[in-house]
Formats: sequence, C-alpha cells, structure tokens
Amino acid sequence: VPPAYLDWVASKPTPYAALVTTFNLLESTTKRLEKISHTSRFLRQVLRLSSNELILVIHLMINKLAADFEGVEMGIGESLLMKAIGESCGRSLEKIREDQRECGDLGLVAMKSRNKQRTLCAPQPLTIAVVHKGLLEIAQTKGEGGQGRKVSAIRKLLASAKGDEAKFLIRGLEGKLRLGLAERTVLVSLSSAMITHEQELSGKIPTTEMLDRAELNLRSVYSELPSYEIIIPAMMEHGVLNIKEHCKLQPGVPVKPMLAKPTKAISEVLNRFENQRFTCEYKYDGERAQIHYVSPKSSIEYPPATLSGRPIKNLAKVFSRNSEDLSGKYPDILAAMTEWVRPEIESFVLDCEAVGWDETNNRLLPFQMLQTRKKKDVALEDVKIRVCVHAFDLLFLNGKPVVRESLDYRRKLMHETFTEVPNQFVFARYMNSSDLEEIRLFLDQSVKDSCEGLMVKMMDGPESFYEPSQRSRNWLKIKKDYIDKLGDSLDLVVIGAYWGRGKRTSVYGSFLLACYNTGTQNYESVCNIGTGFSEAKLEEFHETLHPLEIDRAKPFYDHPSGNAGKPDVWFEPKVLWEVKAADLTLSPRYKAASGLAGHRDKGVSLRFPRFIGPRTDKTGEDATSSNQIAEMYLRQDQVANKTGAKGVDD
Ligand code: ATP
Repeated sequence: VPPAYLDWVASKPTPYAALVTTFNLLESTTKRLEKISHTSRFLRQVLRLSSNELILVIHLMINKLAADFEGVEMGIGESLLMKAIGESCGRSLEKIREDQRECGDLGLVAMKSRNKQRTLCAPQPLTIAVVHKGLLEIAQTKGEGGQGRKVSAIRKLLASAKGDEAKFLIRGLEGKLRLGLAERTVLVSLSSAMITHEQELSGKIPTTEMLDRAELNLRSVYSELPSYEIIIPAMMEHGVLNIKEHCKLQPGVPVKPMLAKPTKAISEVLNRFENQRFTCEYKYDGERAQIHYVSPKSSIEYPPATLSGRPIKNLAKVFSRNSEDLSGKYPDILAAMTEWVRPEIESFVLDCEAVGWDETNNRLLPFQMLQTRKKKDVALEDVKIRVCVHAFDLLFLNGKPVVRESLDYRRKLMHETFTEVPNQFVFARYMNSSDLEEIRLFLDQSVKDSCEGLMVKMMDGPESFYEPSQRSRNWLKIKKDYIDKLGDSLDLVVIGAYWGRGKRTSVYGSFLLACYNTGTQNYESVCNIGTGFSEAKLEEFHETLHPLEIDRAKPFYDHPSGNAGKPDVWFEPKVLWEVKAADLTLSPRYKAASGLAGHRDKGVSLRFPRFIGPRTDKTGEDATSSNQIAEMYLRQDQVANKTGAKGVDD
C-alpha cells in the first residue's frame, strides 16, 4: 500500500507531515531492511523535487541541523521543553510533569496535549523548510533572555503542529528521534534512492550490482567528505556512480578521525603485524586536533560546506575528534602557524595531538590539565596552559588528498613540508622496529616522557592508508598500565545517581554509568561507581550533575532491572567519565552489550570500576560502544580461551 505521503509528490515545498509519516513507519519496525526501504522511498520523492530540500530532509532524519563543525546543538533540557509544551497547549506545568512521569516520553506528552487542544482556525501546514529553520533558530538562540526566546520559538512551532508532528518536533529538540535510524542506514537509503531515480529516468530499474556500487561509492565519499551540502548537489549533477571523481577530502570539512584498536601485550602487536613493516609512535595524552589550512594567497576556492553556501578560502582552523570547531579554544595554535607553515604552502590538513606543555619544567602535561582550559572564545593573552602540537599524519596537501598513499609516504611528505618549532609544533616521536625488546624499551621511554604508551601503525600498502571514521586493526594502541589487564579504559555516560549516606546525604554518593549502543541508539547501563571519591570530588560532581537531573529515565535508557538497582535520580546523557576496571564480567543486572557477548539475557559489567577523570572532549554518543565492550569482554583471556572468540564489528 503506498504510504499517504505519495499524495504530495508533485507539490513543493515538501510538507513536514510527509516526513512524519515516514518517521511513523520507521518507528513501527525494527527490521533494518524495512527501515531502508521506507527511508529510500521517501528520499526518492524528495530528490525528484530539489537538492536543497533533500539536504534539509537528511539533516532532519539524522536529527542534526547542520554539519558538526557548525556547532549547532540540540538536546534541549526537559524542563524547558515541558514549559513550552504547557504554554503552547494551555496546560499547567504540573499536568505536563504528571503526564511525563506516567508515560516517560515527552514527545507523546506533547502530541497528546496538542491533540486535546481546540483550535479556532487551522494553522498553516508545517513544511520541511519551516521546521528546519525553526529548529535551527531554537538551537542557536543564546545569551541574555535566551531561555525565554527558546520557549516562545518552540511554542510557535508546536502551535502549527498537527497529528504526530508534535511528537517528533519535541523528540528532535530533546536530541533523540528514537527511530533506530543510524546515519549509516540513511546513507544506504540515499544511495539506493539516487540510483533508482537515475535509472527510472531512462525507464530502467537498477541491478543489484548497481545498488551495491552506489552504496559503496556514497559511503566512501561521505567518510572522506562528511558534508551533505557538498555531496548532494554533486550527486544530483554527476550521478551517484561518478561521485567519487567530484567529491574528495578538502580543507574546511573535518573528517571523522581514524581510531585504534586496543591491545594488551606487545606480543599481540607482533602477531598482528607478522611479516609486515610497521612503526611505533608515542601515544600522546592530549586532545586530537585536526588542523585545516588554505593560504590567503591561494587561488583555489573549495566548495561551500555550510548551509550559508560560502565557498571555502583563506582558512585556518582546528577541529576536534568530533569535528567540532576548536579554533576559539586554541588561538595560540593558530597564531603559531606563521612559524611552521612556509609561505609557499597552498593548503593542508594535518592530524595532530594538542598536548599541554609545562614551560617551566619543559615537559608534557597530562590531558586532565589541558581540560582546565576554557572551551570557547579564548583570547591569546589569556592562555594559561600552553600547548605543543604533535603532528602524526598528513591527510591533504596543496590541493590534493593523500589519504590513499602509504603511511611511509605521508610521513616523509609531512616531514619535508613542515618545519618543527620546539615546544610549539613537533612531529610525533617514532621508532621502526619489530624487535620485542626494542619496542618494550620504547614503550617504557614513552611513559617516562609523560605519554600514555604507543600507537603501532602499518607502514606500507593499502592497509596503511588513512581510514577516516574507522577504528582500524591497522592502528593498534598499547598503553603501559593496561598490559595484561583490560587493554583500555572506557568512556561512560553518567545516567543516574544514588544519594550519599551518613554525612553525605546532600550530595550523590554513587553513580550509574552507561555505554552507547550504536545500533539501537540506546544508553545501556554497565556499572555503578561509588568508592574512592573525596568529599570535594562528590561536591564537584553534584554541582555539575544537579542541573541535569530529570524526573525519570529517558525512554532510551536500558537500565538495571527491578527496584533494587534503580537510581534515586536520573540525568540527561551529557557527562562522560573515563573509567578503568579490573576486568569485565557477565551480569544479569546490567544491560550493556546484552546479546552481543554471547549471552542473550545477560549484559556485561565492569568489575572494580575506578574513576580516572571527566572526558570533556566527547559527547554522550561518543561513549564506549556496546560493541567495543562486547569485544573487550570476548578478548579477555579466560573467555577467549573458552570460546576462541575473535571480536565484534562496530
Ligand atoms: P583514548 O583517547 O581513551 O585512547 P579514543 O577513543 O579517544 O580513546 P583511541 O583510538 O582509543 O581514541 O586512541 C587514539 C587517540 O590517541 C587519538 O584519537 C589521538 O587523540 C591520540 N593520539 C596520541 N598520539 C597519537 C599518535 N601518535 N597517533 C594517533 N593518535 C594519537
């Protein structure tokens, strides 16, 4: 049966109701293939009309209003949303709160409140463009009186919402549409929609081989150039099968970085890279910094990557591991570039680690110190913690991507092109050896030099190419203090807390932590942590977490079953902590990685979790994934010996 939205096929602008119909279809199935079919069918209708609307639709589907580096944040707090729903639908805040406590889904509360409301005249139907603009304005409202302006903008959108529209508007503003629609699935659907559309124009249907090629092409292009603003118009002009020629990594569009797999022993590294050339680099303990540059003298204009549509030229920016623009945090890195960027260089993208630098004692500072730096609008003269940039990879140089060159080549090119400036810009220290003893000594030295351990990387051939957004086996990390233990620390989201006892009843005494399931898009509880905190630390946690308290668990939290494990308070999923543990164990109580670690009704939990520090450079969804936890669990010696387990793909 054709979905109802087929009625508007010939009409522009696209009604928001059509997207909402698709959202409802997506919500009604858990099957990935059905989700792809609904999504691609809808996208096919949109791309017949205009590439601009297609860009907006994709943004609304993945619930990101703009590229990550534009810094548009959704995730509006529950109390503000409840106020807006109450005011818009003429109901008291108390009633909204009550409904929310009962059903737990603010989207449903909004929808029901809106549908109960009598309206004198029918509002203008919402369109994709109006909703996108409205949401963008809400997300970007800041400064004095910002809260009030946000509430009135939400009220305005809700006032025009019909049927299920209010549900998805509110869920979107809250930060989770809860459709189980990962961005990867949207990309697959888009490629299928596009190739089907192209073939339809000449009266054909695409072959399976064409569908596969379209998907591969689009995924590979998106990993190098994650910008729908550039890719979609190019795809409409040149076709999805030719898009690789036209869309390549470019300055101004940060790529999701290549990441490493953990290892527990040097012998594991040697086994992995047997008979291959590899290199060991210091693993610096700082913040990932992707530096993008286009010289003011360059005549090349790179395609616009933002909704504003301005071409990219004369650029110097620092991006985080999440593609956030960190230029306002690191004015010192930008200022020092005049010293290490030679005038004849036209453009580049460098992958680096920004590491805190203690000038008095001439040594590197730990990440915890670097985190004390202000995040935004830092004036050069106010910089207290200095940083030294450690460059370890070159991704683009003078108009050309080099990601598909060997690491050996990229490294040589980087060393030839840039000039080290002591204490400001240096190359990552490395050693090429496959001798176990030499690697052990280099690892010891890295720790003495205040590093976390080593990164071991493939040197030659396609396996050494830079793989954006991949946690790859071609990069292994080896941290000194985890050898023969877990292999790595975990970054977990604080989703709940329990009040302290005795003298500590005014602060939280222990906390419920969760990992993130990238498939279901739920946060899954993984352990409680509550020992070893000083009074001062508990005060500090209370101060950070108290404003994030919510009345009940979010519907996308999978938490301990039964009342025994239920926390006293729940939080918005915003705070991440780095945690170490003795090992991982199966648990009937926690939900992490249920079904992934070989046991359907048991989750994985951390034994003796220990707090290391906050991770302010990551957001909730960057938490350690359930797949990573399952993989770590399966690789533990005793489990691996029993099952011969290899790992789980993320
Ligand atoms: P963690 O930082 O806790 O190790 P992560 O998930 O941020 O975890 P990993 O892939 O586990 O990232 O480790 C790689 C990180 O180490 C990079 O993101 C980068 O910030 C840092 N790093 C430090 N030195 C290097 C190096 N020589 N090569 C690559 N990455 C490095």
